[in-house]
Amino acid sequence: MTAPRLEIELEKIYHNARTLVELLADHDISVTGITKATLGSPDIAGVLLRAGVSMIGDSRIENIERMRLSHVPATMVLTRSPMLSQVDQVVKYADVSFNTELDVISKLSSAARKVKQIHGIVLMVELGDLREGIMLDDMLDTIREVLRFPNIALKGIGTNLACRSGVSPDATNMSELSSLADLIETTFGLTLDIVSGGSSANLNWALSGAAIGRINNLRLGESILLGREPLQRQPIAGLHTDAITLVAEVIESKVKPSQPCGEIAQSAFGEQPPIIDRGHIPQAILAIGHQDTDPYGLQPPPEIEIIGASSDHLIIESSLPVGAEITFQLNYSALLRAMTSPFVAKVTHFQNGHTPAPISHMIH
Ligand SMILES: *Cc1c(COP(=O)(O)O)cnc(C)c1O
Repeated sequence: MTAPRLEIELEKIYHNARTLVELLADHDISVTGITKATLGSPDIAGVLLRAGVSMIGDSRIENIERMRLSHVPATMVLTRSPMLSQVDQVVKYADVSFNTELDVISKLSSAARKVKQIHGIVLMVELGDLREGIMLDDMLDTIREVLRFPNIALKGIGTNLACRSGVSPDATNMSELSSLADLIETTFGLTLDIVSGGSSANLNWALSGAAIGRINNLRLGESILLGREPLQRQPIAGLHTDAITLVAEVIESKVKPSQPCGEIAQSAFGEQPPIIDRGHIPQAILAIGHQDTDPYGLQPPPEIEIIGASSDHLIIESSLPVGAEITFQLNYSALLRAMTSPFVAKVTHFQNGHTPAPISHMIH
């Protein structure tokens, strides 16, 4: 079979999604299934929906368009603030978008008005990670303005932690979000349907037995696809960490010195060569590199060590022969890049031709 390739096992993704949906349902938290690391794969979105996610979210409107055109039957949420230049597509393909700028919301309202629609928005709040979000002190004024736009419906509020600065979701920042939800509802006499507490980074908090407050939704990507929580990158008990794997092929296999020979300057990616001389070692080269994935985000089988990488080559310590294939587990960065590379084939394994029982039959 062609290499390099991502092997995608839908059965395992279903299991991961279903397990998290059930665990969080015990805390009255719904799951928005995040598809951006799959380029908006309609097959994966379908699996997430069968597993019981309440909405599908993606950061790229192009991915949402792809799922829409494939008739994925879901409420579609754009999780990155829309570009002014894309408001027409956003209104056309997404039901709801996450927002922080009144200028954008105003243009969304005009775009929705042109096509006689109401566009839903979730306002994102800054709670310390310093990526997107409205400052707490500006929230009430912003909402006052938002409520004036005729073709905008305020669906809720949300926050995002951990992604830029690594700030962990905890009792303090989560209760700030809960209190804000209460304050908004009493101030304006409205109901917020969605209080979205965060991402896979919130799982430890949500499942720790902490008070959940008003949080009723999490947006999960990495934990479903890779079976890990992103704060410490630990496997989540009961989930598969190999639902998606990367297979690469050996194109050279030789015994070579462990130390380079000659005057040493920078390598292609500014890395330092190894400093320990271990004599001659078996070295194999795989036909995959920085252009296809993040080499440092690959986890090889235990007996194999990655010892170098350039644009098109991954060097491992191994005596595997030319033509051999090696299967790696991936972290989020390696997955994103591999999924996006046209040089990496995507091979999807379906669920043995059987469809899981409808959700209503599985919740007890
Ligand atoms: C990608 C994304 C998520 C999902 O994060 P994971 O760590 O993959 O669960 C959640 N929220 C927003 C705004 C995102 O862009």
